[in-house]
Amino acid sequence: KNPVPSDIDIALGQTPKVIRQVAEEIGLGPDEFELYGKYKAKVDPDVLKRLEHRQNGRYVVVTGITPTPLGEGKSTTVVGLVQALGAHLDKVAFGCVRQPSQGPTFGIKGGAAGGGYSQIIPMDEFNLHLTGDIHAVTAANNLLAAAIDARMFHESGATDSMLFNRLCPKKKGKRTFAPVMVDRLQRLGIQKQNPEDLTPQEMSKFVRLDIDPATITWQRVMDTNDRFLRKIEVGRNATEQGHERMTGFDIAVASEVMAVLALSADLKDMRQRLGRMVVASNRAGQPVTADDIGIGGALTVLMKDAIKPNLMQTLEGTPVFVHAGPFANIAHGNSSVIADRIALKLAGVEPGMDASNMGYVVTEAGFGADIGMEKFFDIKCRVSNLVPNAVVLVATVKALKMHGGGPDVVPGKPLPEVYMNENLPMLEAGCANLTKHIQNAKKFGVPVVVAINKFTSDTDAEMALIRKLALEAGASDAVPCDNWAKGGLGAVELGKAVVEACDKPSDFKYLYDVEEGIESKIETIAREMYGADGIDLSKEAREKISTYTRQGFAGLPICMAKTHLSLSHDPTKKGVPTGFRLPIRDIRASVGAGFLYPLIGNMQTMPGLPTRPSFYDIDIDFDTGRVVGLF
Ligand code: ADP
Repeated sequence: KNPVPSDIDIALGQTPKVIRQVAEEIGLGPDEFELYGKYKAKVDPDVLKRLEHRQNGRYVVVTGITPTPLGEGKSTTVVGLVQALGAHLDKVAFGCVRQPSQGPTFGIKGGAAGGGYSQIIPMDEFNLHLTGDIHAVTAANNLLAAAIDARMFHESGATDSMLFNRLCPKKKGKRTFAPVMVDRLQRLGIQKQNPEDLTPQEMSKFVRLDIDPATITWQRVMDTNDRFLRKIEVGRNATEQGHERMTGFDIAVASEVMAVLALSADLKDMRQRLGRMVVASNRAGQPVTADDIGIGGALTVLMKDAIKPNLMQTLEGTPVFVHAGPFANIAHGNSSVIADRIALKLAGVEPGMDASNMGYVVTEAGFGADIGMEKFFDIKCRVSNLVPNAVVLVATVKALKMHGGGPDVVPGKPLPEVYMNENLPMLEAGCANLTKHIQNAKKFGVPVVVAINKFTSDTDAEMALIRKLALEAGASDAVPCDNWAKGGLGAVELGKAVVEACDKPSDFKYLYDVEEGIESKIETIAREMYGADGIDLSKEAREKISTYTRQGFAGLPICMAKTHLSLSHDPTKKGVPTGFRLPIRDIRASVGAGFLYPLIGNMQTMPGLPTRPSFYDIDIDFDTGRVVGLF
């Protein structure tokens, strides 16, 4: 019988420190955090101004090999590693992770607090509403969605002067432009301060967005796996007759607003990004933005608290920032730039201080390294200008055996026998996947440490084989970790390997130059990261490339929306697939977040619930008042 209790039992078995104590321990002043209950606090980004002069701490990204649908323990490794560094190796260490989506929490994968004795606590608060940031994202996204349809509705059937009277009503005999309208006038090239001075042509240009409904890319969102909302018709009530149109819901964590939260430098930058978001084209083929709709300010107001990172703690009382939650397959999959920056300063040293006191910031890039890590480097680091010192690549015997020809791993079903017994030939064959990810990581010029996340059935010979092959592939080290079963103590060797890797010179570089054309950037990622022979663009994707190039968006980095279950676009192809071309179904633009995202194969932007969802196990234990069944 497994001696390690369930995740929730372990999490509930530990009494967390009050978060005020954690905040004080990491050096925050009383005005630099706000309490959200006993165990969570929001940290004021202004702390960055106080600490501006400090040298940043070391920056480590945790990623993984191509996983099974169960996950291979990236979150568990992040938590174990910061527990090891912070509680056993006498270092200052921060974890920076994403807020989990309720989609997976109640669907297949469960929560994302880590597992076993390497968890963020209280794990029920972490996995459920946290401090409401995802709700804020949902509110902002849907306000904009409502505004788009309402705007088209109001424009139709109204004369220019009727619209003008509504947009710039007379107040005390005087008309004024709202500030957001002044910006729009500037974009339209109209240089009038006084609404009364507009010529009829200028007035028509100003009052009509003239959105082409066929070009609307803005969807509604919610944080639930609801496959029946993937495609819907809106406007079916009699009052909106004639305005019906097909649209759909995405999961909130795949939304552009979530990506903006994750990538913004500060509230001002967020305001600009939210205003820049393109929602459609007008009938003349020009982009229509949130600021054209007049909503950028309101969206920022909805997001003003969400921009503050949430402070929590590990089971061993070390600090963790939980902030933003973009999905890794259909969004860019990395926690916020702001949280990383704050953590890097808090872990950093004063000028002139001994660099051996330097602390560590460990962040996670979602899913396999082919997508999450690539986007970490090419999108997140490009935006933040932060330079990572090391990559930790998480591998498990189970996933490697699956890549070596083992049977499918199906959530909710017992693991096939082969995964319980030593099988070195199958493991060796599967290590090709690990090798490819090590080589990929090295293309960015950063040292790679392989963390072999140990399960109870793994053998020493299996550990030794993975280590040998990882070193041959160019990893700077490869260490088994037992932190799921033992907490930070089980990751001490990993911690030491990471400290050593961070002391090595990092020759960080991006994979592609953003100024290359859109097609060329996609092709570089497909060939270099996935091992494709090339890309095949659909007619739609080609049209989007010419539209976005014409609209001036070709210089944005690329955020591939691809399955995480294979290096290719086909989730059934394990190991290192070769001899394939990558099909690009469509391309969308997240101009505010700052990337173009190609949809590869049949990637969905709204997941579904399985037959046996996690919610079956979730309930309240009325004797203790506690949540049960979360994992
Ligand atoms: P990822 O972040 O890669 O998706 P997680 O860290 O969330 O993976 O782990 C996925 C699941 O596997 C969690 O339920 C976690 O408790 C469990 N898990 C992780 N490592 C181990 C381990 N070494 N032994 C047993 N279960 C583990």
